[in-house]
Amino acid sequence: MVSISCLKIKGGAYYINSPTNIGLYVFRNKNCLVIDTPLNSSAAKKIDEEISSCAFHPRYVFNTHHHLDHCGSNSYFRNKYPGCEFFSSKGEKVFIENNFLYSSILWGGIPCSQIEWSSKEERIDAILEEGINKINDEKFEIIDLGGHSKALTGIITPEKVFYISDSIFSEEKLQKYKIPYIYDINKFLISIDKILSCDAEFFLPGHSCKVYDKQEIEQLATKNVSAVEFFKDQIYTFLKNAFTKEEIVENIIILNELSVDFKQYMLISTTVAGYLEMFISEKLISYSVQDGKLYFYRE
Ligand SMILES: [Zn+2]
Repeated sequence: MVSISCLKIKGGAYYINSPTNIGLYVFRNKNCLVIDTPLNSSAAKKIDEEISSCAFHPRYVFNTHHHLDHCGSNSYFRNKYPGCEFFSSKGEKVFIENNFLYSSILWGGIPCSQIEWSSKEERIDAILEEGINKINDEKFEIIDLGGHSKALTGIITPEKVFYISDSIFSEEKLQKYKIPYIYDINKFLISIDKILSCDAEFFLPGHSCKVYDKQEIEQLATKNVSAVEFFKDQIYTFLKNAFTKEEIVENIIILNELSVDFKQYMLISTTVAGYLEMFISEKLISYSVQDGKLYFYRE
């Protein structure tokens, strides 16, 4: 396993390179804002050791969204650092505090044990609204980057380092998963436009091997938009004929030679539901129930 280390981006902005990039904003008194907490306590312990080795002290935690690889060890930091304050957007607070909702979205019913979710009691102490927010007397800009999850939120530091989390997928992730998990397709595209038009110098995705500059993030954004367009076209082509959602998922998996497990199947299925919702809301497709199957087809 690649060893993790705390890397400086600019000014007080750092990150720890790990399966989920953990952002850090270090204030003058060495207290820090931790941006996302890793999947579980054992991963959190390693991150915490790295933070301690730099003589930084977690004082605030900001969760960009409710997926467990971004908030799964909040309780570790709450127990280890009494007085630490936890922030998120209003929309994500609901999901972080009621983590079964994520599993329910993927499964479409009562949470299923095959889809990992946390039954730990979590609490977000304060909501950060979109716009300028003061934390420890420094100004941070909060930007709604929903799409991958309902209310995923990015944060820009005073030195214009933008922690963009999973609002954009790195080249490695696009190659690995081919069809990226998106809950709300239109919002995902709007968020990419927001990233491109914002006043930031450096960009850190949630899962990437590097920090992107403005030119590099523009190139990555184009690849993300192309991936969305590719699957939009592919699904719309299927719908020349009447297809069920399961048949669309089946064809995506076979045509794109994906190997998927139970959870990955559900991630693709939920993403397909997002594309279908977009087509329905744009009145491009219709649906009907026949012989016990729900079919979708072009108008
Ligand atoms: Zn995520």
